[in-house]
Amino acid sequence: MSKSVLISGAGIAGSTLGYWLCKFGYRVTIIERSPVPRLTGQTVDIRDEGRDVISRMGILDSIENLMTNESGLRFVDDDDTIRAEHPRAGGKKSFVTDIEILRADLCNILLNVNKEKIEYIYGDTITSYVEGDDNVDVGFKSGARRQFDLVFIAEGMRSRTRELVFGYVPVHHIGLYTAYFAIPYEEQDGNWVRWHNCVGGKSVLLRPDRQKTSRAYLYIRSNERGLDLKDRPEVIRFIQNTFQHDGWEVPRIIEGLRHAEDLYFEDLGQIKMKSWSRGRIAILGDAAYCATPISGMGTTLAIVGAYLLARSLLENPVHAQAFASYEKKMRPYVNKAQAYNPWTIRLEQPDTKPGINFFYTLKKIDQYPLINLVKSLFNSNKYDPDLLGDESLTTCQLAMTTKQRGGVSHDQ
Ligand SMILES: Cc1cc2nc3c(=O)[nH]c(=O)nc-3n(C[C@H](O)[C@H](O)[C@H](O)COP(=O)(O)OP(=O)(O)OC[C@H]3O[C@@H](n4cnc5c(N)ncnc54)[C@H](O)[C@@H]3O)c2cc1C
Repeated sequence: MSKSVLISGAGIAGSTLGYWLCKFGYRVTIIERSPVPRLTGQTVDIRDEGRDVISRMGILDSIENLMTNESGLRFVDDDDTIRAEHPRAGGKKSFVTDIEILRADLCNILLNVNKEKIEYIYGDTITSYVEGDDNVDVGFKSGARRQFDLVFIAEGMRSRTRELVFGYVPVHHIGLYTAYFAIPYEEQDGNWVRWHNCVGGKSVLLRPDRQKTSRAYLYIRSNERGLDLKDRPEVIRFIQNTFQHDGWEVPRIIEGLRHAEDLYFEDLGQIKMKSWSRGRIAILGDAAYCATPISGMGTTLAIVGAYLLARSLLENPVHAQAFASYEKKMRPYVNKAQAYNPWTIRLEQPDTKPGINFFYTLKKIDQYPLINLVKSLFNSNKYDPDLLGDESLTTCQLAMTTKQRGGVSHDQ
């Protein structure tokens, strides 16, 4: 029998890991708390190494077909005057990058890529586990019990199974709330992302998508924690009150919020863990190393982490060695993605009108290629170009390892 694995969480990290482990000959079960696939969410970025992984999965074309195709980012005044303009560009620092896709579309592609070979269980969660010498005995909320060779936690930032396995893990809040939801598209939304700051440490972004809706992103700088835990009517009231005196497209957006069915409100925070494995259980994606959406790297980290974890298991038959190898490769990548200066939050969400003007001026200066060239010369924050390793994870190695494991490679 080939080895069996349980992945908890059918989001971006979980479904990517499922694909690769299935390809490498494992029997894969994915359990998801939600009773149905969670095909919602606004625009997410896939950058550099993430793009390479999806290309290796053979789904780059499907993803490119569904891209939102925004032209770039504009910073605009109350009367929509453009104060700075940054066209779409590749790389990790650009706001609108090579691949921008709605999370819902990406999740749908990933869940379908190996659907018939993976066992999906919806509406259930892990409630207990006992690790033995050869497997993990897992108890589920539904009352079922099953054994797996390995277990993976890919449950997003607020993962509960993480606490069960690793104990309490604090969320490092960055002092910023975001609300995302869709509103009807209007002609002036064009195909650029528009970023507008409001006094009092707030900003509003409008992102058009190919479905002819516009995605509204509201940012609120605040030192108060727990607002995201309030119920939906209270959250809506809080947002309406916060933006009630603001101009530009804000009244239209706040009106749209009243009808939005997809409101997602979160208190942005990072997850930092000392170790990403315990015995036969490993953790990945936002659950392990959430970098917050302001990094623009959350989805890329989830995809790259899933690939490196699966590849480490292919290259190291002993799971403890595989987990150590995954962590060794992935940790520097995560550290760079999570690095940010706390003052950038203040700079990007100023309190006053002069502060907003100063920010727009910096963004204007930033749009000149020469400035970016000079900045890149001083930027020591370089990523490992060999992070993913050779693409031809040779058929020979795959076949050999799969044979040792007693499974059947799905490539064969
Ligand atoms: C509904 C939704 C909407 C999102 N919208 C945006 C967005 O608009 N912009 C943005 O930048 N990021 C968004 N994100 C976050 C983004 O998907 C992640 O930051 C990133 O892609 C990393 O993916 P992940 O797989 O680690 O986590 P996620 O994509 O968050 O996936 C985690 C999955 O685990 C499931 N889960 C949680 N707890 C359990 C449990 N106990 N047992 C089983 N399953 C569990 C969740 O239901 C979810 O399906 C959203 C996430 C979700 C779940």
